Amino acid sequence: TDDSRLKRIASSIRVIPDFPKPEGVMFQDITTLLLDPQAFKDTIDLFVERYKGKGITVVAGIEARGFIFGPPIALAIGAKFVPMRKPKKLPGEVISEEYSLEYGTDKIEIHVDAVQPGDRALVIDDLVATGGTLSAAIRLLERVGAEVVESACVIELPELKEVRLGYRSEDVQSLVLV
Ligand code: AMP
Repeated sequence: TDDSRLKRIASSIRVIPDFPKPEGVMFQDITTLLLDPQAFKDTIDLFVERYKGKGITVVAGIEARGFIFGPPIALAIGAKFVPMRKPKKLPGEVISEEYSLEYGTDKIEIHVDAVQPGDRALVIDDLVATGGTLSAAIRLLERVGAEVVESACVIELPELKEVRLGYRSEDVQSLVLV
């Protein structure tokens, strides 16, 4: 059942306190989920069951852990996979989008020719905290002409404020709430 799959996924995620900084962050470590092939398969299957047949043409994965979950979903639903990367990693022509962190700002980039107007996109990351990273990813996809259908994560933290999907503010599809 969905419920037993979700329970297995949730219990396969390891929590490491005070990583990467001793500030009380509870780091959600998905590498232990990857050690359980059934939990990893269930994670991918749950997303594929939701997104198959929805006309999605591009799965955009956010560096770095969106590169683990995005490609198997893209292959299963017959969409292209597009990496959204930290600055100065992509070799071709890029556009970038800045977003704010607790202290300072960060940026993500996408190849301008990877996505075209008319593409229907699904954005994937491992975890959503405030929603800042996902919102920047969505803005970037919309700037290159894609329609963002939905964004999805394995884990959602209670910090989530909102994720901006165009002019609408939307929920993120997440499997596990911690
Ligand atoms: P945010 O932009 O605040 O939604 O943060 C989400 C991004 O930061 C994702 O790419 C996550 O991988 C990472 N992240 C934030 N908080 C955590 C956490 N507690 N454990 C693991 N990754 C996190």
